[in-house]
Amino acid sequence: MHDAAAPSRNFIQEIIDHDLETNRWGGRVHTRFPPEPNGYLHIGHAKSICLNYGLASQFKGLFNLRFDDTNPEKEEEEYVKSIIYDVGWLGAKWDDRLVFASDYFEKMYEFAVELIKKGKAYVCDLTPEQMSQYRGTATRPGRPSPNRDRGVDENLDLLARMRAGEFPDGSRTLRAKIDLASPNFNLRDPVMYRILHAEHHHARDKWCIYPMYDWAHGFEDSIEGITHSICTLEFENHRPLYDWFINVVNEGRTADGSGPWGKKIHHPQQIEFARLELTHTVMSKRKLLELVKGNHVKGWDDPRMPTISGLRRRGYTPESIRAFCADIGVAKFNSVIEIVRLENAIRDELNKTAPRRMAVLRPLKVVITNYPEGQTDQLDAVNNPEDASMGSRKVPFSRELYIERDDFREEPPKGYHRLAPGREIRFRWAFFIKCESFVKDPATGEVTELHCTYDPATRGGDAPDGRKVKATIHWVSAAHAIDAEVRLYDHLFSVPRPEDVADGVDYKTNLNANSLEVLPAAKLEPGLAGSSAGTRIQFERHGYFSVDPDSSAQRLVFNRTVSLRDTWAKVEKANAPK
Ligand code: ATP
Ligand code: MG
Repeated sequence: MHDAAAPSRNFIQEIIDHDLETNRWGGRVHTRFPPEPNGYLHIGHAKSICLNYGLASQFKGLFNLRFDDTNPEKEEEEYVKSIIYDVGWLGAKWDDRLVFASDYFEKMYEFAVELIKKGKAYVCDLTPEQMSQYRGTATRPGRPSPNRDRGVDENLDLLARMRAGEFPDGSRTLRAKIDLASPNFNLRDPVMYRILHAEHHHARDKWCIYPMYDWAHGFEDSIEGITHSICTLEFENHRPLYDWFINVVNEGRTADGSGPWGKKIHHPQQIEFARLELTHTVMSKRKLLELVKGNHVKGWDDPRMPTISGLRRRGYTPESIRAFCADIGVAKFNSVIEIVRLENAIRDELNKTAPRRMAVLRPLKVVITNYPEGQTDQLDAVNNPEDASMGSRKVPFSRELYIERDDFREEPPKGYHRLAPGREIRFRWAFFIKCESFVKDPATGEVTELHCTYDPATRGGDAPDGRKVKATIHWVSAAHAIDAEVRLYDHLFSVPRPEDVADGVDYKTNLNANSLEVLPAAKLEPGLAGSSAGTRIQFERHGYFSVDPDSSAQRLVFNRTVSLRDTWAKVEKANAPK
């Protein structure tokens, strides 16, 4: 039927299959992504975007990008802009359906008036503290507010005066009259409107009463004609309220609009799925904001952050994030996903697409004593040995070169096959090189320079006499190299579940103090000069890197997106209890 090629269908696709078979929505599928603009989007939001947009496109339906902007205090234009950019970057398309819940405030207000007239809502004078005392407990029903039986006219008058700005913040609310004994606390006369004299980033100063999420959300979906209102599991026990509000508005309404209340409004179906949780990070916007404000990271787009903007800066592609979301799937029970699955998604992609280059991150000078001064050889280097179509390039070789400090040992331990005094190895794409001697800083004992010889007969990397070497290392020509800053990242938190802390312990104590390592003096092969921000490269033996927007023509900055292999999983395996 739909997308017959799909191997298996998740439970939401099955619901939609059934709705289409029974013609529940007249053949329509219409989803939305409804972020509150109170922070930047994170990888959990990406799961929701991929799900909602994915369903709409798979079933040839529609997708709305809607700002659920009902809380002026925490919302900002900066967040609106970043969200629009991120959703588009991920590949979702909303055509002309970029909408703001605050544009429906007038309509919601009309519905509120209607609820009062139907005897289903009242203005309550309890303070927030009193209200929570009145609310009862799991075993004790709530007490009625002294204002619960206020007359319709008085309620209408007070609501109008709340709207007109006559009362201070927090002095009154509009509440739904439902069931103070309900085991579901959401139904114990929930607040629909509160007074808040605050400027709104979209509605400006038009309102000083603001709708609560539960009151607003169903009408946002209804007004837009959403068919499947998909949200995360914690809203499961809000669904009775979602349905109650729409049902009460529909009481006395008719399909053709005859009668005093007019036409029935559309009633979407709320469906809940498990939110994404990832190890070694946090996902709540409140905590992410705290990390930004507390300078624990360099901003929302710090490459260590689980935000979409952070992942983008780190070097992730939209394709890799979508592949990750497809890989983890959609279920009805919560689980924690290992962060290595996210890393594997970008690794798999870059292994195929990223050209390979040589970069020395912690340089050690090498002088080839038998190579003529002032001479340069242009050697052929293959761009991606796994993909011949990516071709090859020339890299310059000369008398003075750099190698990694770690590729030389004065006293090599057992099993160390790279350079050591008297030992011959291969320089990638170049020659066999033999270490003849080395220079030490007498003050520090640090090795500062190697003196080596090369064998011109081994050009290209093989010896005509058939002799073998046990290691191949990368290098760059000192005179030709370009300078770069390279930033290496580790997980933001050093434990898998940073929020699992004892009472009174702050989750921030689990921040990884070594999550960023800056290498200021890396040396790169010259072809990388002028690489633009976002360029993705494999540095041989080091991993996949992406050019940071901090780069300038004078100074390149590279972020390591991910290492070549899944080293973390190996470390964890080694540390796991036997
Ligand atoms: P927070 O509670 O941290 O503020 P939120 O869920 O309230 O986050 P919203 O802006 O309200 O953030 O979320 C927009 C949409 O994204 C909602 O439909 C929500 O269900 C979904 N969403 C948020 N976090 C996740 C997650 N971790 N996994 C999947 N979907 C998520
Ligand atoms: Mg929310």
